[in-house]
Amino acid sequence: MPIRRLAETTINRIAAGEVIERPAAAVKELVENALDAGARRIEVILAGGGIERIEVIDDGCGIPAGELPLAIERHATSKLGDETLVRIATLGFRGEALPSIGAAARLSLISRPAGQDSAWRIEVAGGAVTPPRPAPGPAGTRAIVEDLFYATPARRKFLRSPRAEAEAAARAVWRLALAAPATAFRLVAEERVLFDLPAQDESSRIAALFGREAAQALLPLEAAREEVRLTGLIGPASLNRATTQLQSFVVNGRPVQDPLLKTALRLAYREVIPAGRFPVAALRLDLPDETLDVNVHPAKTELRFAEPNGVRSLLIGAISRALARPISLAAAPSAMPAAYPRPRPPGPAARGFAEAELGFAAPPALRPAFAPPAEDEAAALPAPSDPPHPLGAPLAQILDTYLLALAADGSLVIVDQHAAHERLTEEKLRAQFNAGAIPAQPLLVPVVVDLPPFQAAGVLAEAANLARLGLEIEAFGPGAVLVRAVPAALREPDAAGLIRDLAEEFAETGAPVALEAKLDAALARLACHRSIRAGRRMQREEIDALLREMEATPRAATCAHGRPTFLRLTRADLEKLFSRS
Ligand code: ADP
Ligand code: MG
Repeated sequence: MPIRRLAETTINRIAAGEVIERPAAAVKELVENALDAGARRIEVILAGGGIERIEVIDDGCGIPAGELPLAIERHATSKLGDETLVRIATLGFRGEALPSIGAAARLSLISRPAGQDSAWRIEVAGGAVTPPRPAPGPAGTRAIVEDLFYATPARRKFLRSPRAEAEAAARAVWRLALAAPATAFRLVAEERVLFDLPAQDESSRIAALFGREAAQALLPLEAAREEVRLTGLIGPASLNRATTQLQSFVVNGRPVQDPLLKTALRLAYREVIPAGRFPVAALRLDLPDETLDVNVHPAKTELRFAEPNGVRSLLIGAISRALARPISLAAAPSAMPAAYPRPRPPGPAARGFAEAELGFAAPPALRPAFAPPAEDEAAALPAPSDPPHPLGAPLAQILDTYLLALAADGSLVIVDQHAAHERLTEEKLRAQFNAGAIPAQPLLVPVVVDLPPFQAAGVLAEAANLARLGLEIEAFGPGAVLVRAVPAALREPDAAGLIRDLAEEFAETGAPVALEAKLDAALARLACHRSIRAGRRMQREEIDALLREMEATPRAATCAHGRPTFLRLTRADLEKLFSRS
């Protein structure tokens, strides 16, 4: 084929692939346009996950009739006066969004600038333009997108279910509403009002969009370094979540999902939040426009900072300081220096079972958490050579998290108590589930759980399946779920925490996930909530029972997440560690 110039429509379809990769991206671009137009009030209406229809209505400056054809033309923008791209104060500037949407879908713009007597309407469908004509409409702009990707079927195939797309679109509006609290926002999806917020101050907006429980616990944050200012609210470590959905970053008024900022947040919490859990935060950075490049990606959600290290350390430093007070105890130095083994005079009275068998004096940090057994007690323990007990006899609990045992073959077994118990619980629940249903225990007082609006629908849609898991829930107003019963097997049910985790996971995995996969995830989640936490003291009898149960349970060697539940140090391993081999 000879080289030829691509048709305008083809060029726009290619651009659409980057700018409008799913309905959420179209929603984001349209709302950004409304904010750039100075809207005081924005309404977003979604149908069929935004694939069928997206409508964004604003009361902003409007587009003069004569400029409507330009608005939908590629690389036409009213926002870039300064050609150097160094001081971008608007959310848009590339002049690509409307032509991209118009190339992939049916787009109508109905707009009326204040002072003009009538609105005008222009339409583009798959790149074909119908010229402007007068139409009824109030001051401001209404953008309607129908049949997204009908003109680019390749892209349509990659869309998830309407519910998953609607959730992603709702999250995009959620992020923009956090970035612009002074603008009233209303979001309607599938005929349900997800939020309807007046113009408000930033902390009220955060409270409305994070859910009451999170909002009450959030800690204020304020820090500055040279010309960079950081403000916002962050969750205490205890408020951690199963995903990063409750994290919002706004940089110079722009909602972003920048890797540098995300990583800095993760690092700031690394020592206080368990692996696999994520902090909650609403952060706002303000810095001189010229120290920021927003033109990194067509979707404008990633940034390049002139001083990345300064930004990173400002974030990590400020968050660590804000977290320091509530967690000072946990952050206090451990018995590290004392943890080095030091010789201790052997003597029958001072020798616990551990010392007797292992032949070294347990340093303080390794000392059994329970009182060392008296000689006769030690004798009552299962002999290490007892073949039916491959995991051996309990020696000690260390760091309130790991269990030490002496195995039948003389090697040292180290058990992760939470991982192990989680697996056992999951197997038990699975057996109950396979035998019919998991028995439910009605709560004396039903619990109301507030969720961010975009999560409630997902968990409620699974209500019937969750009921088979012993979890009975129902809708309780917008964004809230009422828990009536929990699985009877849960010993200390934290119904609210369980629902929050499930809601996040359902929202994250999206809808086309097979039911079995969802039930599996829910079972694993139940097991996790029910299980002995890391950090809990365990009596020796409990440890012994846990070891015996592990031996009797299939698949007990890994937890539900595939991590090992126990490790073994054999003679050969120890010799290698001491370089003796
Ligand atoms: P960009 O936002 O990058 O300029 P777009 O394709 O999103 O590019 O929009 C093109 C132009 O159309 C904008 O520069 C703006 O002048 C006009 N426009 C789009 N949406 C609106 C709106 N809701 N209100 C007023 N003007 C708008
Ligand atoms: Mg735009």
